[in-house]
Amino acid sequence: MSKKIRIATTSLAGCFGCHMSFMDIDERLLALAEIADFDRSPLSDIKHCQGCDIGIVEGGVCNAENVEVLREFRRSCRILVAIGACAINGGIPALRNRYDVGDCLEEAFLTGIGVTDPKVPGDPELPLLLDKVHPIHEVVKVDYSIPGCPPSADTIWAVLTALMEGNEPQLPCELIRYD
Ligand code: SF4
Repeated sequence: MSKKIRIATTSLAGCFGCHMSFMDIDERLLALAEIADFDRSPLSDIKHCQGCDIGIVEGGVCNAENVEVLREFRRSCRILVAIGACAINGGIPALRNRYDVGDCLEEAFLTGIGVTDPKVPGDPELPLLLDKVHPIHEVVKVDYSIPGCPPSADTIWAVLTALMEGNEPQLPCELIRYD
C-alpha cells in the first residue's frame, strides 16, 4: 500500500472562515481520509506539525506568536499553501495598518464605543502585537495561494487534489470569480 499523504493546517490572524470552507468539502473529507492523514488541523488534536507534505495557512501575521507558529509550520511542510485574503495580503486584520498600533489599542480598550472597563490588556502571557499585520509571504516562502474570502470548498478541493496527484493546480475562471 502506498504511503498516505500528510496534510496540516494552521490559523493565524484570521476568522477561521477559510477553515470552515475547507470543512465544507463535506463528504469528500471521507475520500480524502482514504489517501491522506491529518496532522495539525481541525480534524486532529495535534498542536505541533510533525512533518507534512502539504501545509495550509489561514490568516496573516499580527503578533509574535504568529511569527513563531508560521516559521515552525514552514519548516515542517514540504509544500506551503496560503489560503484566503488574510494569508495572501493581510485581509481584514490589515485594515489597522493605516493607523498607529497604540491608537488602535486605545480605541479598542479605552475610548471606543461599548468599552465598560477601560484597560489595555497587559498580561505577559499575551503575544506581543506587531505594529503591522503582514501577509505570510513576508515572513516565509509560500508555494501556492488560494484567493478568496474565503475560497469556496470546490476551489480548495481543486488545489488540494492537484497537489496530492503531484500536478500544478489549475483553477478555472469559475472557481476564482467573486462577482
Ligand atoms: Fe476569514 Fe476571509 Fe480571512 Fe479567510 S480570508 S480568515 S474567511 S476574513
